[in-house]
Amino acid sequence: MINQPRDTPLPHLDTIIHDASLLDRDGLWTIGIREGKIVAIDPDFDATSTRRIDARGGLVTPSFVDPHFHLDKVLSRDYVGALSYSEAFARAREAKAHFTVADVEARVCAALDLAVAQGLGAIRSQVDVDFATGLVSLEGVLRARERFSNSIDIQIVAFPQEGIVTDPKAPDLLREALGMGIRLIGGLPEFEQSVDDQKTHIKTILDIAQKFDAEVDMHCDYTDLPQFKTLEMLADMTVERGLQGRVTADHCCALAVYPDDEAARVIDKILQAGIGVIILPIANLQMLGGDGTTPVNRGSSRAKELLAAGVNVCAGADNMYDIWFRFNRMDPVDTAYMTCLSAGMRTDAEVREAFEMTTSRPADLLGIKDYGVNVGCSADLVVHSASNIVDLFRNVPARRYHLRRGILVGGVEGSTWTSR
Ligand SMILES: [Zn+2]
Repeated sequence: MINQPRDTPLPHLDTIIHDASLLDRDGLWTIGIREGKIVAIDPDFDATSTRRIDARGGLVTPSFVDPHFHLDKVLSRDYVGALSYSEAFARAREAKAHFTVADVEARVCAALDLAVAQGLGAIRSQVDVDFATGLVSLEGVLRARERFSNSIDIQIVAFPQEGIVTDPKAPDLLREALGMGIRLIGGLPEFEQSVDDQKTHIKTILDIAQKFDAEVDMHCDYTDLPQFKTLEMLADMTVERGLQGRVTADHCCALAVYPDDEAARVIDKILQAGIGVIILPIANLQMLGGDGTTPVNRGSSRAKELLAAGVNVCAGADNMYDIWFRFNRMDPVDTAYMTCLSAGMRTDAEVREAFEMTTSRPADLLGIKDYGVNVGCSADLVVHSASNIVDLFRNVPARRYHLRRGILVGGVEGSTWTSR
């Protein structure tokens, strides 16, 4: 940032954003963008530019990052129908076996239109690779990714949704996916039928990851039953194999219901293993906490304890209109807001932390370079109408512009009216 008068005038700029509020900086600022990069942030400066955006005092932040989402399944709920959960899972498997590349591509494109409009600059997507869909879902997501390559980054995790021991076809299909250039492999150990099978599941995934030099991003303990310990297994095996810093764990809901001393011991193991944790509060709030009665545990992990210990904790949206979650509109502000509610984040600092869990923290986890609102960073920005995070989460007034490398790629315009 530059606060002093300039010695030399700026060259012609591509875009100038006027009257922007910035986090951690008082007053209004002018942001200059050239060739996709932020080249100036001053209280004001003279320069010519091709485009001008008036932020009208609204906050300018880096674009959002969703670190855990299932793009291949979006908008598939109608294929299954409204049934009990056990019926729905069986039918979902059947429906998935009939997915076509074109069908997956069309549904993913519909979701990505919403994502880009709301200001998401990157998504890490789990994509099923299993006996039911084979590599069809992966092909569909790859095609949609190509179509959106100018507006959003998509990282793909090859995900064995139907297990490893329970789906003997999965390991070869995962190897095939990684052979196609996929750089991340997932897992779902709690899906297996015994503790030994859970261990075999994790071991198999880590074996494949090491063979292909891939990183691991694994669902762990998407349950509020304390007997599930797959997160601890993953932490132990990560250290045993020297994979510190290359592994991410998702959901981690059982951690929330362990006794405090056990939870503290597991959190220390997560820290030692360099594991990043992604919580999925929106979907977990619907799925967990009681068996149809009033929920007690609210389905989040121990987000605040993990953050206090120094773990990189991020938040994702998980699903949209499939059997796992029936709502969602791809708005990362919903994710941040629900993170506050589900994890008990109440103070100004905690609300800010929830915002970081959908921006800078997942950007770090995904290895996104030149991220932020600083000179030299990529101009991947969101211009909000709200001038602070609390008003952003209150969703009033709701206007948002999304810039990718300085080019406007999407936006939201909300309005209200009364007869008064
Ligand atoms: Zn998931």
